[in-house]
Amino acid sequence: MAPAMPLLPQQPATVSVRLADAASTADVGRLVGGVASRVSKARRILFVTGAGISCNAGIPDFRSENGLYNLVKKEYPNAVVKGKDLFDSILFSDPVSTAVFCTFMVRLRSCILGARSTSVHKFIKLLHDKKKLLRCYTQNIDGLESREDLQIGVEGKQSTVVQLHGNIHRLKCTLCCGEFDWSEEDCDLLEDGYIPECQNCTEKAEERTSLGKRCPRVGLLRPNIVLYGEEHPDGENIGRCIDADMKSRPDLLIIAGTSLKVIGIKRLVRNAAKVVHERGGIVVYINRTLPAASSWKGLIDYHIDSDCDEWVEDLRRRQPGLFLKQTEIPITPSKTGKVIENLKGVKSKVEINSIALSGALDMCQVVAPSSAIECSSKLKRKYKADADPLHDITNMLEPSSMTTPEKKLKFKKAVKSVFGLPPKKANAKPKIATLEKLAILKDRAESADTSLLTISVYGR
Ligand SMILES: [Zn+2]
Repeated sequence: MAPAMPLLPQQPATVSVRLADAASTADVGRLVGGVASRVSKARRILFVTGAGISCNAGIPDFRSENGLYNLVKKEYPNAVVKGKDLFDSILFSDPVSTAVFCTFMVRLRSCILGARSTSVHKFIKLLHDKKKLLRCYTQNIDGLESREDLQIGVEGKQSTVVQLHGNIHRLKCTLCCGEFDWSEEDCDLLEDGYIPECQNCTEKAEERTSLGKRCPRVGLLRPNIVLYGEEHPDGENIGRCIDADMKSRPDLLIIAGTSLKVIGIKRLVRNAAKVVHERGGIVVYINRTLPAASSWKGLIDYHIDSDCDEWVEDLRRRQPGLFLKQTEIPITPSKTGKVIENLKGVKSKVEINSIALSGALDMCQVVAPSSAIECSSKLKRKYKADADPLHDITNMLEPSSMTTPEKKLKFKKAVKSVFGLPPKKANAKPKIATLEKLAILKDRAESADTSLLTISVYGR
């Protein structure tokens, strides 16, 4: 069997659309829907993230006019360090700049401690749980991924999130490279603009002095973040993670909330995009602005101009099956077979795997595990013969509209009688139903002469 044509091919030049136009412009809506479908079907996803994914977390923009940085700078009238140099190692050449940096880091960390993870962080966790995520590489130092129990690190298979610019929640000695959590004492010193001395080094020094030996140098503790102009201390391990991911044949690269200006991230995205394209996959870029067309031509296929969280929520509406967890699957193979036979009478192309009732009411979903495909040899043959397991089929049972309030009410009653709950709003958490209930609902929906019952089938 020839592989099915992908719904959206990779592009020679980047196609850029605004998510806000998806509802009003049919072409944009189709394109965003096509990207959503590709995201849903992908099985080995690489994620690259930047500050844009943490915007909605409650961390204030720190570089703007009234941002955190300028507030801190006011406390240091003699400081010459500019906002753009805040993450540049050049600031250590001046004691006042160093003090500004220390105070700033304490304030920034305290903002981060009060922040919450966002829809994007939750989405990354979902992909990880569904075993669809190869890894997430982030430029962020906030560590918000750990709020979703994602493993941060550089230790091969165990690490899900690689922090390319370090971690603000750890302090590192400039001499012995020992790593520590922030103590209250460290916090106070740094806030006042002083760099604390390393405990490891101090203990060693005291030991030597007590033995009458020459007192060695003592290292200083600074937040374990990588500044511009510095090498990442774990560079080799990160390189190994990247190599392993490239060999794992990623079929989708999602880049979210980064302007792609830093050299390291540019290189990573370039290499990953090439590997993804070799696999016939696509590269999707979610950001408020598009980087220069010339440098990303042939590398980024689709740019969606959107807030990162808004894009995830849009994806949830378009591909509800992707957001269902495996544990929410209460179906046995025999039931699947039965209901699919029932549904066949309604529409011939309804197949297997996951069934979502949505339409305007978007109130319940059913997902069957892939083993359910095995339920009937006849179905299995049919499935292999004319359906691409990675292909979505959305069938409107009765594609006219639910025109009258009476019809709407009838349908709502039918839903309520089957599920014991009224239909929920479009973005509400889906109610999971058994396929038996689905079959009953289908009958009642038909007898209620409803028209907004949609059955979507998702492959896994
Ligand atoms: Zn030390």
